[in-house]
Amino acid sequence: MDGFASVGKKEENPLRKIIVFDSTLRDGELAPGCSMALREKLEMAKQLERLGVDVIEAGYPTSSPDDFDAVKSIAASIKDCIVCGLARCVERDIQRAWDALKGAKQPRLHLFAETEASRMKSQGLKQNDLAERTAAMVRFAKTLCPDVQFSAKGAAQTDREFLLRILDTAVAAGATTLSLEDSYGYCTPGEWKDLVAWVQNRLQNPNVILSVHPHNDLGMAVANALEGIHAGAGQVECTVNGIGERAGNAALEEIVMALYGRREFYGCETQIKHHEIYRSSKLLSTITGVPIPPSHPIVGVNVFSQDTSRYKDTAYDFLSPEQIGIHESSAILGKHTTIETFAQRVQELGYRLSDPDLEDAYNRFHGLAARKKEISDRDIEALLIGTSAQACKETYRLGSFIINCGTTISATAVVRLIKDTGEEIEQVARGEGPVNAAFKAIDKIVGVSSKLENWSMRAVTGGEDALGEAVSKIICNGKSVAGRGLSTDILDASIKSYLNAINKALALSQSSEFMV
Ligand code: MN
Repeated sequence: MDGFASVGKKEENPLRKIIVFDSTLRDGELAPGCSMALREKLEMAKQLERLGVDVIEAGYPTSSPDDFDAVKSIAASIKDCIVCGLARCVERDIQRAWDALKGAKQPRLHLFAETEASRMKSQGLKQNDLAERTAAMVRFAKTLCPDVQFSAKGAAQTDREFLLRILDTAVAAGATTLSLEDSYGYCTPGEWKDLVAWVQNRLQNPNVILSVHPHNDLGMAVANALEGIHAGAGQVECTVNGIGERAGNAALEEIVMALYGRREFYGCETQIKHHEIYRSSKLLSTITGVPIPPSHPIVGVNVFSQDTSRYKDTAYDFLSPEQIGIHESSAILGKHTTIETFAQRVQELGYRLSDPDLEDAYNRFHGLAARKKEISDRDIEALLIGTSAQACKETYRLGSFIINCGTTISATAVVRLIKDTGEEIEQVARGEGPVNAAFKAIDKIVGVSSKLENWSMRAVTGGEDALGEAVSKIICNGKSVAGRGLSTDILDASIKSYLNAINKALALSQSSEFMV
């Protein structure tokens, strides 16, 4: 079949359905500083389910006990998506991946092999060896799971006839999805489109789903994803915000909105719920502590800012903030707002909270309203997003602090923390500045060795009494943990973010996900 057949015949052909394979929790998590704890992965997986992705790649179960646990928990709690686990073409990897996946309503085993000549040589593999191994391992995987995906890593650098032989072998052994990976992010869109069309036109079984897995080393991941789809691919592999190792993967939100905004050109559609895009992007950013760059397509803060007006009233105005779930309502809430009104606004913003969570959120809203006159939707979202990922056992909470600082004295902080046992501990420390002094005082109280990797502060909204969001990333016992703090006072927000990170690290070191 000609991969381009659907283009230009939109009246006769319905839009072709593209399967969205999300790898935020597997390939995306490899990004430096983006590792997530189990609870955070689970919250992200639930958001991906609401977003409407078709496949969630939850992890690589043999790579670590953490990944095994994450895949197992996600498999048990996700119902509307296929849950996928990665494995090398090795029997024990496949068995381990299956052990993690088997509780899923719709499990998928994802096998991969490096098909590029130099990589095969370094593993001492000849072409016949790899073909035999592929056949045997896909067949084995198929005895466990009806849905098997096979990926050729380094497909763009692989001899084409050999690539085709391996792909046909995998299909003959039972694979139902085949993926081509541009693992080095090296291909240009033209080359990539040519490869996908070449494979698509020569596969022995044309009904198998062809998938594309681009990387963004040259900033062409999204372009390659779209050209792959244009050439006939039926599945695209991507991550929220494009996170991933090196320059990242293809960004889900960009692919989805390009297919939607230019659907007459591509002739394709996804089942992604566009109004969940912003929330997914923001949640990931909150969990990882990695901010969304202001000019990031689709979700960056500049995209819809009022003073950089879009192409209103022209044919090219195909994106709106409401479409991706950014709502700005005119009625501002404040300290006289009742819980009923608050609950209604929370619902309008698209959040579903249980009664205890709603009450908890309302209390935080009230705390904020005591210090900030007008509370906007953006403030409420900041209060709501990522709260369950943020929540952990609070070993320490902030009692009080006093900080002295200025141009002629070194900053001194007195911090009083309350331990979960009720004990109150106070310490004094001097530092380079007020934040540094406060963090040092906390270190003295807590007594764990952690290193501050990164600290950032941003205003959630504008204005004099803007809500500040601080993110502290610390390395504790070799793990990177991000903590978040919200306040109208930037020092209060900073201290809370640092304490949140420390509490998370302490909770991790006590849980099984950290011990094994
Ligand atoms: Mn990859």
